[in-house]
Amino acid sequence: MKHLAALLAVVVAALSAGSSSEGATRRPAPVSPPPFAVRDTLVVRVLDVGQGDATLITNGGSRVLIDGGPDEARMGALLDSLGIDGQTIDVVILTHQHADHLVGLRALFESRRNIAVRYFFENGDPYTAANLRHLRDSIAARVARHELVYRDTDDPCANGQPLCTITLKGGAKLHIMRPDPAGHDPNDRSTAVKLVAADSSFTMWIAGDAEQDAIGWFLNEAHYDRNPGMHVDVLKADHHGSCNGVTNAYLSALAPSIVVASVGAVNSYGHMHEQAKALYVAHHVPWYRTDQNGTIEIRAPGANGARYSVHARNPHTDLSGPSDRVSTQPQCNPVP
Ligand SMILES: [Zn+2]
Repeated sequence: MKHLAALLAVVVAALSAGSSSEGATRRPAPVSPPPFAVRDTLVVRVLDVGQGDATLITNGGSRVLIDGGPDEARMGALLDSLGIDGQTIDVVILTHQHADHLVGLRALFESRRNIAVRYFFENGDPYTAANLRHLRDSIAARVARHELVYRDTDDPCANGQPLCTITLKGGAKLHIMRPDPAGHDPNDRSTAVKLVAADSSFTMWIAGDAEQDAIGWFLNEAHYDRNPGMHVDVLKADHHGSCNGVTNAYLSALAPSIVVASVGAVNSYGHMHEQAKALYVAHHVPWYRTDQNGTIEIRAPGANGARYSVHARNPHTDLSGPSDRVSTQPQCNPVP
């Protein structure tokens, strides 16, 4: 335990320290202020990237990007609009190796953007897609230049422990969890992340495209319900609101107040599935969805227990989309 604590302290110190020009000051003033209103507010943006996932987290000057969506140009435009060119992203996490999560991450490595990435987390599973090969080539080049630290999510703190906790400069904590080592496909090898505001007044669970097997592993084998705990305010719907990305036990363990699904208005999968929406209704959980609400922004003040707020171009919840349909998958009829 002592060894683990020491290693975690190294990670936290590395992230808290910032770049060398920032020196030892805990909250250095940025050279050019980012377009975020309050410096220590925890802001989560579930970006409208179409049929895919990309979530940007900012807190006290730290930035975390979980997945990059399916389109490099679209992610590039979002990076432009968010003023991230020339800035540092402290942590990038690729939840799993599917194109709708990874292709947009290539925009981070376009040299004209001059974006520094300090830590890159992914599972190291082999995958033959050219898009991933190009992304990994970019990462390897920066590792060779000692500009980036690569972390395998199967050993996320590089200390043999299944859980790696990173403290952002504004005090929020990010728990990165090892995926199911026996997951049979990329979705079930998704890395789960739990985000906790500095004062614990806001929590969110993001687990890529984990399907029911992985969800069962989180609960029954990894016991993530005990550590780091799965009770959260917001759930990012697994697998874009597919019925195979949710179970009754999962929603009971997470007990979210809202669900946010990242989904393309036109998709061939039938997302969001009617069975998933019915389960959210049964658990009294309203949902937002990027195809109907646009980018969904959640703001948690992170101090004195002040309540978080949700902002979107279209503020209505529980909307349906043009691609939604009933899934015929056996594991959804009924959803366990
Ligand atoms: Zn996906």
